[in-house]
Amino acid sequence: MFKVNDDYLKLQGSYLFSNIAKKVAAFTEANPDAPIIRLGIGDVTQPLAPAIIDSLHSAVDEMAAAETFHGYAPDLGYEFLRSAMAENDYKARGCDIKADEIFISDGAKCDSGNIQEIFSRDNKIAVCDPVYPVYVDTNVMAGRTGTYDAKKGIWSDVIYMPCTAENNFSPELPTSTPDLIYLCFPNNPTGSTITKDELQKWVDYANKVGAVIIYDAAYEAYISETDVPHTIYECDGARTCAIELRSFSKNAGFTGVRLGATVIPKDLKSGDVMLHTLWARRHGTKYNGAPYIVQRAGEAVYSEAGKAQLKAQVAYYMENAKIIYEGLRDAGYSVSGGVNAPYIWLKTPVTMTSWEFFDYLLEKANVVGTPGSGFGPSGEGYFRLTAFGSHENTVAAIGRIKAL
Ligand SMILES: *Cc1c(COP(=O)(O)O)cnc(C)c1O
Repeated sequence: MFKVNDDYLKLQGSYLFSNIAKKVAAFTEANPDAPIIRLGIGDVTQPLAPAIIDSLHSAVDEMAAAETFHGYAPDLGYEFLRSAMAENDYKARGCDIKADEIFISDGAKCDSGNIQEIFSRDNKIAVCDPVYPVYVDTNVMAGRTGTYDAKKGIWSDVIYMPCTAENNFSPELPTSTPDLIYLCFPNNPTGSTITKDELQKWVDYANKVGAVIIYDAAYEAYISETDVPHTIYECDGARTCAIELRSFSKNAGFTGVRLGATVIPKDLKSGDVMLHTLWARRHGTKYNGAPYIVQRAGEAVYSEAGKAQLKAQVAYYMENAKIIYEGLRDAGYSVSGGVNAPYIWLKTPVTMTSWEFFDYLLEKANVVGTPGSGFGPSGEGYFRLTAFGSHENTVAAIGRIKAL
């Protein structure tokens, strides 16, 4: 008789966004004419840039002729894309990362979920609170998180690092020692970030205690301030303690196209075992690579035309971020984020929880956002709005919130 993986049964509730979808569906059924504006889910809305579309088209044409057809991609990704990343994301920033330390994949979400399987089940994880739910849930599935305390909303074997207004949404070094530390800057959901000096402290700490930092750089393209690191490898010593996750979703609109990468420096070792070797084996055994046409599209992200077009696309979203940030501030809310990230994080009025504020905005302004408590207990009393809507919708939504 088969048995299921019990660890899956420990997963809490349904996914945050399905709860939101249910609430919005119920509201629209009761109010079919309500002009709902969604500033909730972190999905882009602008079409792919012309340079990327051109590249996709020509790669599709190559697939139509025997001489230029491509079958299985190399396990670790095509050289042309790995080199473009090594050159533009690392060498250009003075970071020592080689093309063969970059593993191409179908996205940072999958990689952030899959990467934990090359580590022992005994490893203790540390996460920011609030946090991107994937980091915690994939460790629950792996049986690494202990028991859930429903009252507090926390797992017994997870180290939580609260990020609230009190510490400027920047985590403090944990008091008990983790083995794996998940960091994401610029941050989803808080929109905050840390300076290079602050990140250096984490790298030094990880090297000191023998921990690995899993650094999610999905929002790197949104950085506007100069002292904010674009990659963890800007920090000294990161090659011996850090794995970096890269995504093409938020900088280039690949959420539906699917492309990402994971960087594992060859200096990152446990004894004489390189994590690079384990991940290469994992990739080779379980994965047959991102599609050729998609990797060609990814290459176009680094072309001169692609860079210019994507800079404009990011600027479009960041103009929305500014409209949201300034509009909410003028309406008397205390707001953060929105400067180096497409997320604005606001404090809910003292009388309202995150979900109460969700209902209030939905009913009174027909605007959908995301309750902060859905990202962890320290997210209670906060609310996330995203800059990924259209300019018109963003202006309209903020106008309605201001008028409340
Ligand atoms: C959107 C997002 C990603 C991107 O995941 P993909 O699988 O590359 O689309 C990764 N991490 C965080 C924190 C995100 O918000």
